[in-house]
Amino acid sequence: MRVSIFGTGYVGLVTGTCLAEVGHQVVCVDVDAAKVRGLEEGVVPIYEPGLTPMVKANHAAGRLRFTTDAADALDFGEVIFIAVGTPPDEDGSADLQYVLAVARSIGEHMQRPSVVVNKSTVPVGTADKVRAAISEALANRGIDIPFQVVSNPEFLKEGDAINDCMRPDRIVVGAQDEDAVAMMRRLYAPFNRNHDRMMTMDVRSAELTKYAANAMLATKISFMNEIANIAEKVGADVEMVRKGIGSDPRIGWHFIYPGAGYGGSCFPKDVQALTRTASQYGYQARVLDAVEAVNDAQKGHLFELMLRHYGNAEALRGKTIAVWGLAFKPNTDDMREASSRRLLAQLWEAGARVRAFDPEARDESRRIFGERSDLVLCDSADAALEGADALAVVTEWKQFRSPDFAMLKRKLSDAVVFDGRNLYEPIDVETQGLAYWGIGRGRSV
Ligand code: NAD
Repeated sequence: MRVSIFGTGYVGLVTGTCLAEVGHQVVCVDVDAAKVRGLEEGVVPIYEPGLTPMVKANHAAGRLRFTTDAADALDFGEVIFIAVGTPPDEDGSADLQYVLAVARSIGEHMQRPSVVVNKSTVPVGTADKVRAAISEALANRGIDIPFQVVSNPEFLKEGDAINDCMRPDRIVVGAQDEDAVAMMRRLYAPFNRNHDRMMTMDVRSAELTKYAANAMLATKISFMNEIANIAEKVGADVEMVRKGIGSDPRIGWHFIYPGAGYGGSCFPKDVQALTRTASQYGYQARVLDAVEAVNDAQKGHLFELMLRHYGNAEALRGKTIAVWGLAFKPNTDDMREASSRRLLAQLWEAGARVRAFDPEARDESRRIFGERSDLVLCDSADAALEGADALAVVTEWKQFRSPDFAMLKRKLSDAVVFDGRNLYEPIDVETQGLAYWGIGRGRSV
């Protein structure tokens, strides 16, 4: 099938590449001309495992190309995807300006009956707005071309996006029209060979499904962070508690890791946007309010542990803190809403210096923070420890899991580790003569 995708970010680029991989003809459109030029030359602007070779192979095979020309994309595609950003507006609701700009552009250039598929995460009711924007643009051209608007939310995880896209748990399709559903079935048939993963429903339910999924995952994290905070107070170890509850299949092992708070481009904004949608309909989403409040406080928790260790903020003045991990989670260079950003801001505010290492987010941190005298971006985890007083682990990259604690003891002048992801067993760290602070690791002795 011929597919056009608006937006070549994480979602658009991964989706386009995977659709090309299974044999569809794909054109990806973006307004960012530099990005499009780079992609045509095989330069993938994001770090996502496995993506670059797949983009290059499909581009070379002639199934995947990139353009800034919306008219070309509408001339080409029979299925048109919208996969542009929906960042938070000032009041927390989803900003639909990019989605609606694409919708207008679709209406301005549509040549033949088409299925327009919204993959961006959008509030309930957006499909109606997209339909209206396309119809208006068509009316301005004085023509009437039949089209359908389908909701097909995306559930991929950054860091494992190719796998999620090639082997999805489910493909949610919200559509009013049987022909549009049939079109989506044909499009996704290569992903459905093992068993049927496609779930069809009405458009509004599909739109809400995406928010419900992210809100549920965020709730699990905030819930566990709350238990961790209680564990700290009462002298219990949340890691024991985690194992104790995860073994119950009704609860399960996934997403019950306490830590330094969730970040990224999705959970924070989607929880806020769903709260906002609820309030627009006169409903106060109290659980979601609490999820957000707990997460916001949790992002400050590592610094809180530092204050407990050092006694007060003044004692941090002039200290050098090694920070392992800047990305909001491993296997990505994405630092949007990352917990590291809060910690760094708090350390700088207290007059501390930071030596940071992240395997992939170095360029991104340089872009975000620029040159500053109180930040050194290091080439390796070891280099970050040079001249440092303490270590803070903020992102759970695999390579941070088994450090040489004896070496940490030699390098860190204050001999203390702040473990924002509970990667280590306190006993392993402490037997090397280091102080250990983790999340929710209260002890009764
Ligand atoms: P992104 O910010 O990485 O990429 C968006 C792209 O759209 C950018 O390249 C931008 O230049 C382009 N764009 C903006 N306006 C355009 C226009 N008029 N025409 C063509 N291109 C245009 O965004 P993302 O992370 O890929 O997210 C896209 C959507 O998918 C969001 O709604 C997000 O919530 C949702 N989502 C994201 C993830 C994720 O893990 N990143 C997962 C599931 C769903």
